Amino acid sequence: MTAATVLREPSAWLRAAGAAQVCRIRRMGLDPDSTTGPALLAPLVGTLSNPDPQDDRRCDRCSRYCPPGEGYAVMLYRPTLALALIVGLCPVHAAVEGVSADV
Ligand SMILES: [Zn+2]
Repeated sequence: MTAATVLREPSAWLRAAGAAQVCRIRRMGLDPDSTTGPALLAPLVGTLSNPDPQDDRRCDRCSRYCPPGEGYAVMLYRPTLALALIVGLCPVHAAVEGVSADV
């Protein structure tokens, strides 16, 4: 397993998707801007409770399943100080973010 890439210059799509998740997390009563509270880790899309194992390799942007051997990029995006979002993208959309997808 390789370490996830941390995105420093996200696309407009990723910034918007991250902002939506920040709003969702605030509605849950959590503080993604806290400087003293716990750091938060969440998926960019959906929740961690989805039991479908194919979602582990489904593109967050186009929803395409990327079977092993096709490449899939896992990265972290930090829209706020205390929040890291896990992002999984197909090779096409990983390239949009400037990241290559590992096979
Ligand atoms: Zn995609």
